[in-house]
Amino acid sequence: MFRAHNFSAGPAVLPLEVVEQTSKAALDYNGLGMSIMEMSHRSKDFEAVIKEAQADCLKLMELSEKEYTVLFLGGGASLQFAMVPMNFMHKKVDYINTGVWATKAYKEAKIIATEGIEVNEIASSSDKNFNYIPQNIAYSKDADYCHITTNNTIYGTEWRELPNTGSVPLIVDMSSDLFAQRYDFSKCSLIYAGAQKNIGPSGVTLVVIKNSFMETENSKLPTMLKYVTHAKEDSMFNTPPCLPIFVVNRTFKWIMKQGGIDAIQSNNIIKANYIYDKIDSRNDFYKGSVENPKDRSLMNITFNLPSEDLENKFINEAKALNMIGLKGHRLVGGVRASTYNALPNESAIALSEFMETFYQANK
Ligand SMILES: *Cc1c(COP(=O)(O)O)cnc(C)c1O
Repeated sequence: MFRAHNFSAGPAVLPLEVVEQTSKAALDYNGLGMSIMEMSHRSKDFEAVIKEAQADCLKLMELSEKEYTVLFLGGGASLQFAMVPMNFMHKKVDYINTGVWATKAYKEAKIIATEGIEVNEIASSSDKNFNYIPQNIAYSKDADYCHITTNNTIYGTEWRELPNTGSVPLIVDMSSDLFAQRYDFSKCSLIYAGAQKNIGPSGVTLVVIKNSFMETENSKLPTMLKYVTHAKEDSMFNTPPCLPIFVVNRTFKWIMKQGGIDAIQSNNIIKANYIYDKIDSRNDFYKGSVENPKDRSLMNITFNLPSEDLENKFINEAKALNMIGLKGHRLVGGVRASTYNALPNESAIALSEFMETFYQANK
């Protein structure tokens, strides 16, 4: 089967075997004579799919189901930008601003805050067009929570480890680097991720929430916007996105089969380095946009060429070689290669080789 070298930022490449399993299940699931899309979400067969995905998620995170609950919600990561402050903002909240998505999360908190509630940006890398991860951050001691975005999909920066926020609950948007590298997930009170970058298709958002933290949520909210509603009903308060949850289930299985997060991380480093090494060895031509190599994302590799014309030529010639999705985000331009977990090594090698060919022809 023909597969493009898919560098799309999201929705993004999935493991081929997961796509194949999904295409089979879309016709007939388990010999039941119906598609996974045609069966009741309350059936035993679907219940097994969602329960298994929840258990596998916690296993991968090394968290216990006594302490944490896994939810599958609608509305994308963008709805979490609002649900988080609606549920957990009481007096004062802290945000670290490392890019466009982090800014959007902060803005939602601002919209929701009523008089007397403080929404603080305690650190930001906006002074240098978000090309670094802030250091030496002064975390408050009394905030309701602190919100960070681990991977900045548009600018290509990524936290190497989660911060220690002391007694302040840490809330993390991991939409674009979930299970891409090892984090100490037990530092988090809430983790969320739109599925469409590393764990599935669009249409489902993964939320992992600490039970003791969930108890602190505001009570006077519409039913659908409360985490407790979904936790009590095991993500079945209303009809969940069944097909996307199936794909997430199979992607978690695939991650385990690869050897878990550590194996995925080692391979992600190898893959990203095919491209970063080319940027570094041909730095008279390719210019990486991230200031400190330590902050470079394993998932979204951003760089510029000497001119916009050359960037367009690069993107078009790459396309002719089946490398798609390389155009940088419209806010920053340049080139962006997204190298998510499921991107095959061959694709990263193909891009690295093309970068050399293009360099020789156009330097
Ligand atoms: C893509 C992305 C989002 C937006 O996700 P939606 O599911 O489209 O709402 C949020 N945060 C980060 C870090 C992202 O990369």
